[in-house]
Amino acid sequence: MEPAEIQGDLTEVLLSEADIHQRIAELCREIERDYEGRELLVVGVLKGAVMVMADLSRELRRHVQMDWMAVSSYGAGTQSSGVVRILKDLDTDLTDRDVLIVEDIIDSGLTLSWLRENLESRGAASVEICALLRKPEAAKVDVDVKYVGFEIPNHFVVGYGLDYAERYRNLRAVGILAPHVYS
Ligand code: 5GP
Ligand code: MG
Ligand code: MG
Repeated sequence: MEPAEIQGDLTEVLLSEADIHQRIAELCREIERDYEGRELLVVGVLKGAVMVMADLSRELRRHVQMDWMAVSSYGAGTQSSGVVRILKDLDTDLTDRDVLIVEDIIDSGLTLSWLRENLESRGAASVEICALLRKPEAAKVDVDVKYVGFEIPNHFVVGYGLDYAERYRNLRAVGILAPHVYS
């Protein structure tokens, strides 16, 4: 349950904390199978993926290495432009590494398709993507995402790492932001 102050800002809770944890556990069983016998580097995309990274990495019953990147898609408000800038790069050399990018949400897919190409160009052995949420209606580019938590409708959502104006990241659930908050 979210604090009353915050609850009023959501029109609907789409995914509860329990929904999210159960789905992450399922994804982890797949990841464990797929990467058996190989070292794995998980790359979290700041800041939205912080919660997914924390829960996913702790649910994995195996060794992983963790690194972080921060990127910004140029463009204000709630729209992605596809022009991506690296704000914080990885510390890890990706040569011959098996890399799993962990993201909060795929909207247009522009950020992730750029990011995958960028990491592949550094000589990684493989680059796959795990995203907690995907908005199918919004896809402008076809990104091959190996692990998807939930397909959600085309609304602006917040919580569990996802922000609006840097707020709401600390919600345990994912919900639809009420229009009165941004209009
Ligand atoms: P894309 O490049 O796929 O359009 O989206 C890139 C970024 O936009 C996501 O990583 C996320 O930070 C932000 N984004 C897209 N849709 C939403 C949404 O519904 N809610 C929030 N809070 N951020 C979103
Ligand atoms: Mg993100
Ligand atoms: Mg944001």
